[in-house]
Amino acid sequence: RVVGRTVLAWTGLRRSFGGLTAVADFSCELAAGEVLGLIGPNGSGKSTTINVLSGLYPPSSGRIELAGADVSGLPPHVVARRGMVRTFQDPRLVGRFTVLENVLLGAHVHARYGALEAGFGIGRIRRDEPAAIARAAGVLTAMGLDDVADRVLETLPYGYRRLVEVARALMVEPDVLLLDEPAAGLSEGEIGRLERAVLDLRAAGVAVLIVDHHMDFLARVVDRVVVLDGGREIFRGAIGAMRDDPKVAECYLGR
Ligand code: ADP
Ligand code: MG
Repeated sequence: RVVGRTVLAWTGLRRSFGGLTAVADFSCELAAGEVLGLIGPNGSGKSTTINVLSGLYPPSSGRIELAGADVSGLPPHVVARRGMVRTFQDPRLVGRFTVLENVLLGAHVHARYGALEAGFGIGRIRRDEPAAIARAAGVLTAMGLDDVADRVLETLPYGYRRLVEVARALMVEPDVLLLDEPAAGLSEGEIGRLERAVLDLRAAGVAVLIVDHHMDFLARVVDRVVVLDGGREIFRGAIGAMRDDPKVAECYLGR
């Protein structure tokens, strides 16, 4: 499969917490229309990689380039405005709001305010931003969520939270999307929706990094995978080849 030019590149990325090195000397890149899987046992540095790339934590060292510009250490809302957004391993949504309202918050949560501030601003969003509502409706249709747009989120099965979290990130029309365990806790039907959404994004030229443990889901959407163990890359290549790699087998069997 032919992918586009590099949109995100990180070199020598390292992040420590006190004496613990969560990510060490990690370099990789992501091209437009490419889906990269990031795999590894618990504690191997996958979420930290997303946290550092998205600007939640500054890197201890290393450089992050987004569309050719250095974004290392810039805060998440600035990184989001430049086209890269992420989802969280624990969805950060407002249960008492409808699906549509949660998605509408996306433009604000990712691009402008903190969640609390955005929560208070929901009335204003609804009144003042018909364009945002039209965009949210488009995102919900693309994710197969239009039938539940007006349902209060906390009344829906858990899996919807992850799908809504992805829909919300799409409100900023990202060039790069970082997904932290999007398939965790989803039913097979919900994974099917997620899968179609990821493949649509890939076809639209979005670069997608997916951290997940669901290998069948990954095998259906990724172009290649990187495996981390103890914060270090131990494998890079096709997901089929990963299954036969002795180092990968060892890091999983060793636990
Ligand atoms: P994964 O997502 O692969 O399960 P993480 O990136 O969350 O792993 O964590 C990697 C290591 O970094 C773990 O040992 C974890 O405890 C540690 N770590 C992650 N975030 C923090 C933090 N904010 N403060 C201290 N240690 C952290
Ligand atoms: Mg994690």
